[in-house]
Amino acid sequence: MSQSTIEIKRTQHSRLNEIDFDNLTFGEQFSDHMLEVRFSDGRWHEPQILPYGQIPMYPAVSTLHYGQAVFEGMKAFRYESDKVNIFRIEKHYDRFRRSCERVCIPEVPEEVFKEGMVELVRTDREWVPRNKYKSLYIRPIVFATDQTLGLRASRNYRFYIICSPVGNYYSEGIKPIRLTTMPKYVRAVLGGVGDVKVPGNYAASLQPTTKAQHMGYTQVLWLDAVEHRFVEEVGSMNIFFVIGDTLVTPPLNGSILPGITRNSILELAKAEGLKYEERPVSIEQLVSLHNKAQVKEIFGAGTAAVISPVGLIHHEEYEITIAADEMGPVARWFYDKITGIQHGEVAAPDSWCTVI
Ligand SMILES: *Cc1c(COP(=O)(O)O)cnc(C)c1O
Repeated sequence: MSQSTIEIKRTQHSRLNEIDFDNLTFGEQFSDHMLEVRFSDGRWHEPQILPYGQIPMYPAVSTLHYGQAVFEGMKAFRYESDKVNIFRIEKHYDRFRRSCERVCIPEVPEEVFKEGMVELVRTDREWVPRNKYKSLYIRPIVFATDQTLGLRASRNYRFYIICSPVGNYYSEGIKPIRLTTMPKYVRAVLGGVGDVKVPGNYAASLQPTTKAQHMGYTQVLWLDAVEHRFVEEVGSMNIFFVIGDTLVTPPLNGSILPGITRNSILELAKAEGLKYEERPVSIEQLVSLHNKAQVKEIFGAGTAAVISPVGLIHHEEYEITIAADEMGPVARWFYDKITGIQHGEVAAPDSWCTVI
């Protein structure tokens, strides 16, 4: 990418040497810089890269009251050759743009998002971990900043990108997750905001998730909001099944978040000529297929872990168990392929990697 003209105010006090890259947690340590872009008078102003730090706000700022905000979650990886790769920036921008549209946030221009991110990662490239499978998690966020308790779309916004070095999800081995349905709760309804990345979705999932965890499960298996039968997502990941010799995932029906990892898996399946279907899967059907030993693998897919194998699903009086203390062979194939692409070891489709 060409040299950008973004103004950079460098920190005088890098915190890089305070970070223990061998023991990284998820999203608790932040790199030296952040991107800031302000929207006012009907336009986005010049982006700036600033030292990561506090942002002053008034308590009446409308985001805090009505949640007019959008975020993304993506990663940069370091190659053996020391180059740094931002994974699927275009696809993430597309989703970010759609999310903004849904909650009336003015579109952050594509070049501001992309160049801003590239320049920020370039500025903080020492923060991209060197160990394989660790990465720099990138969190773009945009939110309303009008001071008003009136419920209306804000006239002022701020867009930030912050970065957090994160560890290998599987540093202590792979423990398949245990899921339960929560019949009294739904994650998202058709016509709502379940198909965009807006903060309210996650606030609403906390109570059922906490209850599920008290019951001994890792995450909630979300069912559709109308019939409470069709499987939609697992926690904040998309869900995949291997049924017989076919990879199956629910279609993007309007209440499922269109995951970039989900998309990567389907694109790779297509390119490899694997059998795959996007079709509704009801929980009853899953129980019956499981009784016929047709359910070979179940896994969640998302940026944080790439793939999380599912060991158990609890639903009312049923338990579906997938005997495994590892990833199944299909999950493993996708995991190796995607992490290989992210680290520049496996050839990727055009536009998946932004190398800097
Ligand atoms: C972010 C997210 C996913 C996964 O999306 P990726 O782009 O693969 O990280 C799935 N479901 C929900 C609800 C999410 O918020």
